[in-house]
Amino acid sequence: MRLLRSTCVLAWVLVTVAGVVPAQTPTTVPSPASVLGFEPGTDRQLMDYGQLTEYMKQLAAASDRVEIRAVGTTPLGRTMYVAFISSAENIGILDELRGINKQLALDPDLTEEVRASLIERGRVFVMETLSMHSGEVAPSQSLPLYAYSLATTDDPELLRQLDDVVLMMVPCHNPDGMDMVVEHYREYVGTKYEGSSLPRVYHKYVGHDNNRDFVALTQEDTQVISRLYSTDWFPQVLVEKHQMGSTGPRYYVPPNHDPIAQVIDEGLWNWSAVFGANLARDMTADGLQGVASHWLFDDYWPGSTETSHWKNIISFLTEAASCKTATPVFIEPTELRVRGKGLSEYKKGVNMLDPWPGGTWSLGKIVEYELSSMASILATAAGNRRQILTFRNDLCRKEVEKGRTQAPFYFVLPQKQTDPGELAALAELLQLHGIEIDRLTKDVVVGDRHLSTGDLVVPLAQPYRAFVKEMLESQRYPERHYTPSGELIRPYDITSWSLPLHMGVTSYQIDTRSTDLEDHLEPLPSDAFEFDLTLPDDVWAIAYPSSNNQAYLAVFAALEAGFEVGRIAQPFGPEDRELPAGSFVILMGSGGRDGLQSIVDQTSITPVVFENEVTVARLPVRKPRIALVETYFHDMDAGWTRYLFDTYGISYLVLHPGDFDTANLARDFDVIVFPGASKDVLTKGKYKRGDRYVVNDYPPEFRQPITRKGLAKLTAFLQGGGTVVSWGGSTGLFTGGLAAPDGDDEDADAIEIPVRDISDNLEDVRVPGAFLAVDYLHPHPLTWGMPAHGGAFSRGNPIFATSIPRLDTDRRVVAVYPERELLLSGYLEGEDQLQNKPAMVWVRVGKGQLVLYGVRPQFRGSTPSTFKLVFNALLLPPIG
Ligand SMILES: [Zn+2]
Repeated sequence: MRLLRSTCVLAWVLVTVAGVVPAQTPTTVPSPASVLGFEPGTDRQLMDYGQLTEYMKQLAAASDRVEIRAVGTTPLGRTMYVAFISSAENIGILDELRGINKQLALDPDLTEEVRASLIERGRVFVMETLSMHSGEVAPSQSLPLYAYSLATTDDPELLRQLDDVVLMMVPCHNPDGMDMVVEHYREYVGTKYEGSSLPRVYHKYVGHDNNRDFVALTQEDTQVISRLYSTDWFPQVLVEKHQMGSTGPRYYVPPNHDPIAQVIDEGLWNWSAVFGANLARDMTADGLQGVASHWLFDDYWPGSTETSHWKNIISFLTEAASCKTATPVFIEPTELRVRGKGLSEYKKGVNMLDPWPGGTWSLGKIVEYELSSMASILATAAGNRRQILTFRNDLCRKEVEKGRTQAPFYFVLPQKQTDPGELAALAELLQLHGIEIDRLTKDVVVGDRHLSTGDLVVPLAQPYRAFVKEMLESQRYPERHYTPSGELIRPYDITSWSLPLHMGVTSYQIDTRSTDLEDHLEPLPSDAFEFDLTLPDDVWAIAYPSSNNQAYLAVFAALEAGFEVGRIAQPFGPEDRELPAGSFVILMGSGGRDGLQSIVDQTSITPVVFENEVTVARLPVRKPRIALVETYFHDMDAGWTRYLFDTYGISYLVLHPGDFDTANLARDFDVIVFPGASKDVLTKGKYKRGDRYVVNDYPPEFRQPITRKGLAKLTAFLQGGGTVVSWGGSTGLFTGGLAAPDGDDEDADAIEIPVRDISDNLEDVRVPGAFLAVDYLHPHPLTWGMPAHGGAFSRGNPIFATSIPRLDTDRRVVAVYPERELLLSGYLEGEDQLQNKPAMVWVRVGKGQLVLYGVRPQFRGSTPSTFKLVFNALLLPPIG
């Protein structure tokens, strides 16, 4: 059997190298070269998404072993597909096989007879998502060769494998990014910038963070992929295909390194290890050196397997070493190195048995590794068909049984919430994930908990129990060490993703089973959060509470449409619905009832309706003219901020650092927003690594910094009454003092502000990304709608210290890390040093206002509980 596989790989290599189509190929099935005009994997040649999908469509039309289906749309409007590859017989009954998958995945109560029949008739569905990170081009470029070989093979062993397995190949996980990267590569090929990185994010918004979006599912393309495995096709195996840096091992296969997510069943880890061991064996046998495992990538956070691991899917990622997009690189043996946990030397060892010795590394080589990898995954799935299908239903039974016998038994999301719009959003998100949610039909008491009719209940006795538990609890990072009492194994990425905490939804768990509760549950109706409100013709105004994110959606729509909007500075109580300080009143005025009605229809919460004029003091709210600063350095945080603004209907213009010289800040803008970006990138157009500056490979027009002149303008903008909003690394533009203002006085001094960043002095504070307790100052226009005691997502820096202001400046600490337990979810070191430090500071400079955040208010679009901190900054009243 090994010989047969090797022969296949050899055939692919011949195709790649010589462009020769094997003689046995039926002429009716088009080869990749015949459609694309070149062999995939050829140096300096890339197909774009249109070519890739055109080839797959032609292949599907010509081959009864291939079917392609449209499955959704990307954020920029491209159609996403999945290509099913299997035997003609399986392709003919895909939807019947899908039904078998669903029963095995979701039904814990199958009779033994039915179960045995399903396992007998079922096929292993292996879903492979290719090139989600668009600079990692090879997996998508490999697919036409792989699909063509399977469509045309007459190898008996491969045909047997296709009888047992249905491949679900997602030709490209990120079609928008693929076209951006290919277009950029083609533009610069043959110039000194050939193979340079794309100067912007390779996605409408989020770039490389797209695999960090699989909990919050904010982006259309991540939703499409999630639906495929969570609710539509129920594959038993999922593989994400990536690439990594150039100078380490050549290919990464599972198992991953510790720590691992504790709630995931041990059987899933064993299965991914089986696939990994076979990958290492098969690829090495194919003559491919440098396959490594159990290194760098941990399996604690959801990014490496989307969330499929929590949904009983055997899942893992692979990573190939990169060349420069499609341009070969030569790697000196002396340049080979390893980093991260698990490999300490670039030497032969148990998890890298045959180190690659260096040399030329090209797209064709990566394609060869991918083809070998895909072949091994198919062989493992086929060789274990019955066991894998049995395991999937075993796991369904096991998880449901745990939910019936082990606490917690239910999570409750009370109907009464400070921000009911976020409750609706959470329920919708859980359903998108394939989670069963119920609603209580009467009041019930369980222990000391009084549950009310209409409260939402998420039972743990469901197949995706692990997901429910992980996402509705708060996280505790599993602390593991390299040696007993030795160094802690640090997390690969963030450590908190608790949905209730991040979204600001109150929830609690119940650790006692209750038949009274279970007897009074109904499935959450699809229209549970819909409401029907028709405004009277002569309505005076509508009002939304400042504690609701949806209020801001309504207000930005109202401002856009020209309605008069005011904020009430004091709590105001119309009958049973008190509006907290900072709530919004939108007057019908000349805007008309229909316009106001359309605002009501856009939001998911009902406003308070004032039919007659009421007397209440209101601060006028004006539509802010906003500049959003985005660098070309794959600026994901700026992308997430654009996403936030677009989602809430907030108008803005993007300013790149090089635009500051010519922009008229004072004339054109009221607010300038600096998302998290390195100060060095902003002001020097390059990164700092240690003491050394690293020049990026972008063409120079994408490396323009904010010059001294631009910084002086920024100071003048502030002093003249503008608002500047900044978090993350960009706060370094301000905490070190402001540049002297733009003006005639060349000897003007730099301006100190009464806030500095002391994180460099607090080296023991480590926050890899956690949700921490934060107290908010009230009353203050920046904290309107926020609780007095709440939380925020933090990555540890900056950490501020304030001082007594001088020279026409002022400051207020509007949020502080309190002197109580700080860690609400995730991992934190140095808590005592962080306590009683400002988490957010308002600063006055002349007539202007500067808002500095030590926390990340819109982190990866996943922290709605603190979005208001951004919205309030955009709407700050001018200094009176
Ligand atoms: Zn990647």
